[in-house]
Amino acid sequence: VATGRRWVFLFREGNAQLRDLLGGKGANLAEMTRIGLPVPPGFTVSTRACVAYLQGGRRMPEGLWEEVLEGLRDIEQQIGRRFGDPVQPLLVSVRSGAKFSMPGMMDTILNVGLTDETVLGLAAMTANERFAYDCYRRLIQMFGKVVLDIPSERFEDALDELKRELGVIHDYEIPAEHLQRLVQAYKEIVQQATGTPFPQDPFEQLRRAILAVFESWNNRRAIDYRNAHGIPHDLGTAANVQAMVFGNLGPDSATGVAFTRNPSTGEKGIFGEYLTNAQGEDVVAGIRTPQPIQEMAKDPLLRGAYEQLLDVADRLERHYRDMQDLEFTVERGKLWMLQTRTGKRTGRAAVKIAVDMVHEGLIDPREAVLRVSPDHLDQLLHPMLDPSWKGEPLAKGLPASPGAASGKVVFDADEAKVLGDRGEAVILVRLETSPDDFHGMLAARGILTARGGMTSHAAVVARGIGKPAVVGCSALVVDYERQEFRVGDVVVRRGDVITIDGSTGAVLLGEVPTIPPSVGGDLAELLDWADQFRRLRVRANADTPEDAAKARELGAEGIGLCRTEHMFFQGDRIWAMREMIMATTPEERRAALAKLEPMQREDFVGIFKAMAGFPVTIRTLDPPLHEFLPKHEEEIQAMAERLGVSPEAIRAKVQALTEANPMLGHRGCRLGITAPEITEMQARAIFTAALQCAAEGIEVHPEIMVPLVSDVRELMVQREIIDRVARQLFAEAGREIPYSIGTMIEVPRAALTASEIAREAEFFSFGTNDLTQMTYGISRDDAGRFLPYYLEHGIYPADPFQTLDRAGVGRLIEIARDGGRATRPAIKLGICGEHGGDPASIRFCHEVGLDYVSASPYRVPIARLAAAQAAL
Ligand code: ADP
Ligand code: MG
Ligand code: MG
Repeated sequence: VATGRRWVFLFREGNAQLRDLLGGKGANLAEMTRIGLPVPPGFTVSTRACVAYLQGGRRMPEGLWEEVLEGLRDIEQQIGRRFGDPVQPLLVSVRSGAKFSMPGMMDTILNVGLTDETVLGLAAMTANERFAYDCYRRLIQMFGKVVLDIPSERFEDALDELKRELGVIHDYEIPAEHLQRLVQAYKEIVQQATGTPFPQDPFEQLRRAILAVFESWNNRRAIDYRNAHGIPHDLGTAANVQAMVFGNLGPDSATGVAFTRNPSTGEKGIFGEYLTNAQGEDVVAGIRTPQPIQEMAKDPLLRGAYEQLLDVADRLERHYRDMQDLEFTVERGKLWMLQTRTGKRTGRAAVKIAVDMVHEGLIDPREAVLRVSPDHLDQLLHPMLDPSWKGEPLAKGLPASPGAASGKVVFDADEAKVLGDRGEAVILVRLETSPDDFHGMLAARGILTARGGMTSHAAVVARGIGKPAVVGCSALVVDYERQEFRVGDVVVRRGDVITIDGSTGAVLLGEVPTIPPSVGGDLAELLDWADQFRRLRVRANADTPEDAAKARELGAEGIGLCRTEHMFFQGDRIWAMREMIMATTPEERRAALAKLEPMQREDFVGIFKAMAGFPVTIRTLDPPLHEFLPKHEEEIQAMAERLGVSPEAIRAKVQALTEANPMLGHRGCRLGITAPEITEMQARAIFTAALQCAAEGIEVHPEIMVPLVSDVRELMVQREIIDRVARQLFAEAGREIPYSIGTMIEVPRAALTASEIAREAEFFSFGTNDLTQMTYGISRDDAGRFLPYYLEHGIYPADPFQTLDRAGVGRLIEIARDGGRATRPAIKLGICGEHGGDPASIRFCHEVGLDYVSASPYRVPIARLAAAQAAL
């Protein structure tokens, strides 16, 4: 279609490609219409119209209303009923729908066109008075909330009161004459709240509903959602006007939602829920507990529609070549499709679906690799409850979003936000959640609700943001007033710690141990494909043999950073370290170091073995020595006793080592230069370990990395020591080990003088944590005071410690790359800062042509995927 300067597009004119203009919902309604699925007729008022309205002083753009009326005439012709007709009234829904799906964040109004007059026509036409007034009361409530800003509770309270009075539980048990009374009460609520009656002109209803949908683009929860998902604020939403079909016409009518595959596990086969005799939101709102979709097959009144649905689901999946999330309504046995979109899914499901679809021939491995996001893998690599833990869960709900989480119970989204922002682990416990709870769900570690099914708001949102969630845990009696919940006799109060397991639905008291994840099955297959596409190698940061083994298991091709000081902090070793620091002569220092050497050697042997055949980059001692000394008086006393020195001597040492700015102080290679025995000992530990492994037939590739070099002479001095130790040990052993020496590029001067440094360095590894600190002049430890402000106010576009700053830090990396290669064309280049595990930063590393990235072991699979996606 020529999209020209029109505001309105009929469903049959559009297609799935026009998401920018029609929004996702509108574009897919058009696409379903185009491929011949049963979709109630309608049209889309474009996002362009919304933007024009919001930016044009909130006036309806010229010509829009005429086009709406034209669209309406088209629906009337197709349906054979007229909008506002007192005998055979056409009703429509007015539905929001932006380019990017924002489930439940914006507003929709159903049954538009009902008035005191048309409701009589609807009742007569359907021979169902109860139904007609049920629609009317829903319209007044939705219109009241969305257009007139009247809190839903006002209406809910009136409804609850009526149900109490009648002694019924469900809406559909209210007889017609009482619904009629309820409509009266609702109209009075409107009159009271706004000073004007509920509009009796269907066209006024339609006009105001469309504008209210436009306005809903800017409600608080929509803005929060866009911020959380990085969706631009200037896109606007479309408004879809569509003929109503009715799931609340009786037992042969129903409404439901379904996924073409299980969005939690990825299992093939339709998955969803439905409610008979219900309309629209009832399924997700958790008002009645819906039935599993398969039950439809057992209901003779719905069986036909179910079979049709299976067929539609299959067609849609093959058409879109992806798992779809569907909304449908059955009106008197006939199926109507109301929405399709690519379904949100958990990480586990994303991987399984992508791999299965390759096997089914729907997509190729390349597409599979592009479909799984790094965030999906992140979810999958979350801890699970330790299966060997033998305890009874307190209660069980539905496993809505996988992963285990522990935290303090809070009952309020605002409180969850406050505590969560402070870094406290909280579990948000609610009867059910609504879009107003979104900020609290983001801040919580996990979500637990007493009501709602697998497609309830809580479940959908939790899966979307990757938070563990257990929903519909009906054993929970939640008492907001007393800020507690009860399960039988057990009372859990606000602040008590619980654990939830979103993979099984278990709710447990206290903090329960978890186990780390592993890769296998589908994930291994997907990552194998990823490995075929990527150019970057992926290494791990690992300091212990255990970490190294885990890293190998997760696919690391070597170690990019082994921090030797971590070995000194462990257990008893710190005492040898302290002895070394207290030493007053080089001889004493050597004696203390001699105690450390076998421990280091042993660690290196373990790491070399775990990484057999792969390179291992070992960094010589980096942190300032004061980090090894005690800080408190009791600790000083204990140390004095143990080492047989006076407390004064220790205090004097602490004093002597205290620096005004330790980050820029006596650390890194500056230590190894002023105390060469340290470097010497470390080199000996590395080479003796390597020789020992080589003697056992294990292939080793040590790469020794000197930290914090800013001038080539520093590296020269350190290199001389390392080479000398190697020569000596190789001569003694009668065996040579190939090794290389390089440096971390983490001081801007090193990057700027890289061509000189490369004379002494066979590799550069970008230590982007320090390089970012020093390039910005920001100490990471102190950034908390202002960095959040900077991010909130857009002064920095992103946290430079999380996502590599291309303009500054990235520029230095390019300069160092060019300088390094000018002197030594084959110089090996890698990155070992935390950025090595960040997908956006990995893309940068790919683009600037580094040889490898190095990430923490659990981020290795993410790095493998991100490196492949960068290459595709
Ligand atoms: P959301 O984006 O919050 O899902 P929707 O616009 O999809 O909002 O509509 C809310 C509910 O109303 C959904 O269950 C949908 O299927 C239902 N609905 C929308 N339009 C119609 C219609 N024309 N006939 C029947 N039900 C409808
Ligand atoms: Mg919907
Ligand atoms: Mg550093």
